[in-house]
Amino acid sequence: MKNPPLKIYDTTLRDGTQGEGISFSVTDKLLITERLDQFGVDYIEGGFPGSNPRDITFFAEVGKLKLRHARVAAFGSTRRAGATAAHDPQLKVLVDAGTPVVTIVGKTWLLHVTEILRTTAEENLAMIEDSVRHLVAHGREVIYDAEHFFDGFKNNPDYALRTLAAAKRGGADNLTLCDTNGGTLVDDLKETVARVVREFGGGSVGVHCHNDSGLGVAVSLAGIAAGATLVQGTINGYGERTGNANLTTILPNLFLKMDRTAFCRPNLPQLRELSHYLDELANQRPDPKEPFVGTSAFAHKGGLHANAAQKVARSYEHIDPATVGNRTRVLVSDLAGRSSIVMKAKELGFALDEKAPELKEIIEELKQLEFEGHEFEAADASLKLLLAKWLKRHVPSFTFEGYRVIIERRGPESSVVAEATVKLKVNGKPVHTVAECVGPIGALDKALRLALEKAHPVIKDTALSDYKVRILDSRRGTNSRTRVLIETTDGQEIWGTVGVSDNIIEASWEALRDAVEYKLLLEEEKTGTGGRKPEAG
Ligand SMILES: [Zn+2]
Repeated sequence: MKNPPLKIYDTTLRDGTQGEGISFSVTDKLLITERLDQFGVDYIEGGFPGSNPRDITFFAEVGKLKLRHARVAAFGSTRRAGATAAHDPQLKVLVDAGTPVVTIVGKTWLLHVTEILRTTAEENLAMIEDSVRHLVAHGREVIYDAEHFFDGFKNNPDYALRTLAAAKRGGADNLTLCDTNGGTLVDDLKETVARVVREFGGGSVGVHCHNDSGLGVAVSLAGIAAGATLVQGTINGYGERTGNANLTTILPNLFLKMDRTAFCRPNLPQLRELSHYLDELANQRPDPKEPFVGTSAFAHKGGLHANAAQKVARSYEHIDPATVGNRTRVLVSDLAGRSSIVMKAKELGFALDEKAPELKEIIEELKQLEFEGHEFEAADASLKLLLAKWLKRHVPSFTFEGYRVIIERRGPESSVVAEATVKLKVNGKPVHTVAECVGPIGALDKALRLALEKAHPVIKDTALSDYKVRILDSRRGTNSRTRVLIETTDGQEIWGTVGVSDNIIEASWEALRDAVEYKLLLEEEKTGTGGRKPEAG
């Protein structure tokens, strides 16, 4: 019999926001909820209702969204010791949140029961059962999160199972086993999940894992293999300490390698986009080494290897990148030969014949540029502009006349200010702009954008997202060459550009200029106006 579909439970908005540097506004949380629903996850855990004004507003607003599939869950803990569920203020808040699902966390590990809750083993069981029953009586689907389940089970398997039985008696729809400290190894977790599945039936068991041992994904997959049918995790593995189990890695493994399915299965090609969208809202730089969705996940370097990958992608790639919305990339380096350039050009959208006469010239020029210190591995956009110009597919809409940067401290108490002046000809007309910023690169960037915005309003959508400087030959001291790599984003795409010069401002200028020109090239491609003639002037 084919395995039934799994339930995918996203806790990015609750456990994910425990991660260092991760914070979402109410608007972000609502946007993420819609996006996760679009992708097709089954559950979206929104946070603790009542814990802070942000989550209170979120729960008030989320009920108004028209979600097509996902069920929103409010998260909280079991009633207080010695009280009744009906009068517990926290359970009231959970009911008042009005979500179809409530996820309630309870203690498994006796150490926590006696030392942290300071109550008895029996009272803890009653707290679990009462709380679940109370929520079920209010018509909620209840997911019971068994905190520290694997540590508790190791310490006292019988008691751990009794906590689950209490939740089940209360009417819990699902028993999710949490590896809260993230220290459980794969075999231990698998064995324990199998035991719980034997005891309670597989259809109602879930796993919630953390990555403290670097195994967040591995133990989640092991839990599924052992019979769990619900998996909790976060997009991009956001979460406390080293993060939660990463759904962005779990899902392709489940679907492409373990022959499992879930409601979101058909949307797997949107995975990379989803991952980047979350990074964008969380203000995180996408990790290029992220399995499946990272920029480097299918990047090949070196002539021979790239050549082989071009012929039979399967020979060097564990899956077809398109299945997760990613693509093969060829890293152009001085190892690159004819076939790498042809493949790279193809990847960037240019058909180039391996026997084309201009190819030899292009390779010679690329080699010279690389010798001078240009590096195109992280600067696809600069390379694409070069190819587009060589192949006469693109004529810049602006010509550069000059720039000036002044750095000034206006008095002993004042801070440093940089002022940049930029002179361009845009569509043949001279444009002259001035901008101020704390640093010279920021000032140049501002002035350049200002000069182009009027003729090309799309420039306003772009922003600098990273700036890296490398001194290429440190033995030459201040006369060394400087390489600047810039990353720019328009909220959908991220592109890299490069500049090299003896002067850091000039190197930055080159990279900045490529960054905005690339956006214009993208627009040309979109509107089909590429290759137009420069206007007179
Ligand atoms: Zn957790």
